[in-house]
Amino acid sequence: MDDSILVVNCGSSSLKLALFDHDHQKIASALAERLNQSGALARISADDSSVPLPARANHEQALAALINAFKDRGLMTGEPAAIGHRVVHGGETFREASLIDDETIAAIEHCSALAPLHNPVNLAGIRAMKALCPDVPQVAVFDTAYHQTLPPRAFRYALPEHCYRDWGVRRYGFHGTSHAFMAQQAARLLGKTPATTSIISAHLGNGCSITAIRDGISVDTSMGLTPLEGLVMGTRSGDVDPSVFDYLSSRGVSASETHKMLNNDSGLLGLSGQTNDMRTLCDLADHGHEPSRLAIDVFCFRLARYIGAMTASLGQLDALVFTGGIGENSARVRQETARHLRLLGIELEPDLNRNHGRWSDGRINTADSRYPVLVIPTNEELVIAREADRLAAARHVNPDG
Ligand code: AMP
Repeated sequence: MDDSILVVNCGSSSLKLALFDHDHQKIASALAERLNQSGALARISADDSSVPLPARANHEQALAALINAFKDRGLMTGEPAAIGHRVVHGGETFREASLIDDETIAAIEHCSALAPLHNPVNLAGIRAMKALCPDVPQVAVFDTAYHQTLPPRAFRYALPEHCYRDWGVRRYGFHGTSHAFMAQQAARLLGKTPATTSIISAHLGNGCSITAIRDGISVDTSMGLTPLEGLVMGTRSGDVDPSVFDYLSSRGVSASETHKMLNNDSGLLGLSGQTNDMRTLCDLADHGHEPSRLAIDVFCFRLARYIGAMTASLGQLDALVFTGGIGENSARVRQETARHLRLLGIELEPDLNRNHGRWSDGRINTADSRYPVLVIPTNEELVIAREADRLAAARHVNPDG
């Protein structure tokens, strides 16, 4: 066994691995795609080399091949000291990360009804790693866990009570590892402690969510029962009137077709009719493509509305934080969003917004802005590695615990 920590993130046809050393510095990462299909392929980032996979490789075969490739390249000398798995849905069972045993696996399985596209593949990764490294402690880190502190007024839908009681229909929230990381990093940049720091954290990537964090704790968030609710996303609609199901069924579109459309064909892609990629959309908009301009406009306006809404959950605001591929990189999205927030006294400094960096500690607001605005790179893999390390170490202290 060496002292590395392996982070495993399994998607339906892909898997991402990240390898950290004992100081939590990333050593390497790897990606396998087209799993269970013809033409499965895998690459290691350290030397940008490809790794041969069997035809139609499954998750276990890809994991075995990539771990061997890490060993062949001297990146791993033995089995890792701990393995952390990203698990999408922990329901109300998991308020924090958990060491994986038979009981944990059964509970994750139970939550699969709430995340049928995600939890089963997360479990496939867990089972594969247990088969490959049976003696290594493994830890599940849940996207939902950080939001288990939401008060009922934020997590309950105004539906008949039995929907919640009998079927668990409530808001769970996602991107928890990223929002938790923002809470820590923002506190550090502001020279405060997380327990006294209140922020609005906007995670804007292909999936987008926004969270109100009061004194380090999630008190409101935009995603709901599933990651479909809330902001406009790459291919997801975010909020729509639920009557769309009934109305479209009267037009011959089945509920499952509508569900697929809301998840896969909507959002920036649906509005622009071109792409879910914000970079391409900005280029198209600059060249006069009206639907792309509209897609960016709807995206920023919805985001600004949610930022305003999140202030209702906070007693004070120490910073508005942008993260994720769009949040970290798109000065245009940040600027267009801030333009809707003048009433809140939020003002961005254009040069800082375009060129924020370490030297500015990620600050992009003017001196007159009522609230600081920060750009902070997210690092969900690091959070998972830290949690895996922490729980694996606790296991050595208390082997029965
Ligand atoms: P993520 O899911 O966090 O990887 O984010 C993906 C999104 O970030 C895509 O819409 C990308 O177009 C967007 N993105 C990445 N880099 C940039 C950039 N430099 N400018 C604008 N959007 C970007």
